[in-house]
Amino acid sequence: VPDPLASLREEIALANRILVHEGILDAFGHVSARHPTDPSRFLLSRYLAPELVEPDDIREFNVADAEPVRAGERHYSERVIHSCIYEARPDVMAVCHHHAPAVLAFAIAKAELVPVFHLGAAMGEKVAYWDSQDDFGDTSLLVTKIAEGRSLARALGRHSTVLMGRHGATVAGNSVREVAFRTVYSCRNAELQIQAKLLGQVYSLTPGEARMAGSHNTRSGPLGRAWDSWVRRLHKAGDFPKTGATKTRKRPARRAAKLSLAQKRRGKRSRKN
Ligand code: MN
Repeated sequence: VPDPLASLREEIALANRILVHEGILDAFGHVSARHPTDPSRFLLSRYLAPELVEPDDIREFNVADAEPVRAGERHYSERVIHSCIYEARPDVMAVCHHHAPAVLAFAIAKAELVPVFHLGAAMGEKVAYWDSQDDFGDTSLLVTKIAEGRSLARALGRHSTVLMGRHGATVAGNSVREVAFRTVYSCRNAELQIQAKLLGQVYSLTPGEARMAGSHNTRSGPLGRAWDSWVRRLHKAGDFPKTGATKTRKRPARRAAKLSLAQKRRGKRSRKN
């Protein structure tokens, strides 16, 4: 029987590691998902660097106050980024917060990040901008208070991506895979937009192109194809998270295969003898 909570925890651990592997997360940043059966909760790792996250590290938090359902561990101080977006946007099922350098350049220069190639359109036709100075003046720049999270969620509005002045970006979507895709390709788009600007004028997608390319790319086909490719890269790098259920299912199967091979050999030998 498939367990939707267990597979979502595995998917969140994978997304954390994929985004490290793709150069988007480093020691910091995080990926969350709304709870599959209880929309008033969300799932996020305990306090860990994203490349260390295992499915067993994923904890449940309340959307209402960002507090863990079970207390007693250290958690990310910026978890209100996630809770406040889930609160404001019932359609959002996953969120990624990151500080990827290419996107951060736009969040420092207050430059508009626009879709400049077809896959970049996955970040949405328009990227929102939020500056903690506007509502809160000088802060540590970390989004740790509910009021700050709500201000950020208001700036995100109905969009999918919001740049955070001098800090990073937050990406929302209706699945972990969609958020991973959107995050990776918004960073590629940012790199390309900077490179194109060095060559001369930037010819961005028209609003119609951005809409059409964006909705094409976020279909299950392209999302699954990209996800499979990133998962494969993780496997090759030996960075795959522990997947208890898969391993225990595979081990006896492998043993059985080896046994039958040994039995065949023994069978051959005994036939020869
Ligand atoms: Mn941050």
